[in-house]
Amino acid sequence: MFQFSNSLFHMKEAFKAVENKDFSELERKVMFEKATELPFTGEYYDFFEEGIYVCKNCGLPLYRSQDKFHSGCGWPSFDDEVPGAVLRQPDKDGVRTELVCGYCGAHLGHVFTGEGFTKKDTRHCVNSVSLKFLPKGQKPEKEQIFFAAGCFWGVEHLFKQCEGVLDTQVGFMGGHTDHPTYEEVCTGTTGHAETVRVVYDTKVDVENLIKYFFEIHDFTQVNRQGPDWGKQYRSVIFYTSEEQKQKAEKIKALLSQKYKVATSIEKASTFWPAEDYHQDHYDKTGKTPYCHYRRAIFGKDIPISLD
Ligand SMILES: [Zn+2]
Repeated sequence: MFQFSNSLFHMKEAFKAVENKDFSELERKVMFEKATELPFTGEYYDFFEEGIYVCKNCGLPLYRSQDKFHSGCGWPSFDDEVPGAVLRQPDKDGVRTELVCGYCGAHLGHVFTGEGFTKKDTRHCVNSVSLKFLPKGQKPEKEQIFFAAGCFWGVEHLFKQCEGVLDTQVGFMGGHTDHPTYEEVCTGTTGHAETVRVVYDTKVDVENLIKYFFEIHDFTQVNRQGPDWGKQYRSVIFYTSEEQKQKAEKIKALLSQKYKVATSIEKASTFWPAEDYHQDHYDKTGKTPYCHYRRAIFGKDIPISLD
């Protein structure tokens, strides 16, 4: 049985996969035991159709065809990831930087910089067997978006009750330090915001999740949410796709006709999961959030039709 060395990740998806999914020997070895497929053998090393690549284990989008390039190395090469999709961590060899799916922890490959292949000067060298290609026009079954709206305990608690939400996780995003701890973020010096990862079923329009986000916190407060003061409590939508960005901007513009909206809309960066004891906080304690509740603002004061 494989073991994950890094307790940072919640690996329930990966573990479920090993128990339940019908993966080939090679897929298991690469995704869960960090093996590497032989060069020039994978399905996608010489493949340049338009579309996106999702994680073969959990199904979340990882890479886009517009970031794929010919490197000649024998594995699929990308010079960028879907925002917030991957985690970089030191390889056991002490030299390279390993790439894993930021959500499920499946091993993807390695990332190299300074080789000069493209303007971004970055090469994600990814195993084909860790990926599944979806041609342009085919929607992934699930996607993720990240919301910061004050204390993440309450935000997570409310998103768990939202239609279409498949999973949530609390953590940190938007700052300048790696592997931040809760204590470090509380000092307000890391730049990170308390953030909730929301994995959702794409049968649900992400616009509904964005509206819900605005309804469960006071988006007019700057660097504050109720009793919690500090930049770590700021209001942010961290998008992972162009669709999410456009819908977030549309709704913010609509609300701005009536309110002074403090929420910023930013491209997702690395999501750092918070310590285990912060996950599902209100489920564990049986308490209810002290600072978050839902109030209906769409469809009443504001017309719901946005077209
Ligand atoms: Zn994954």
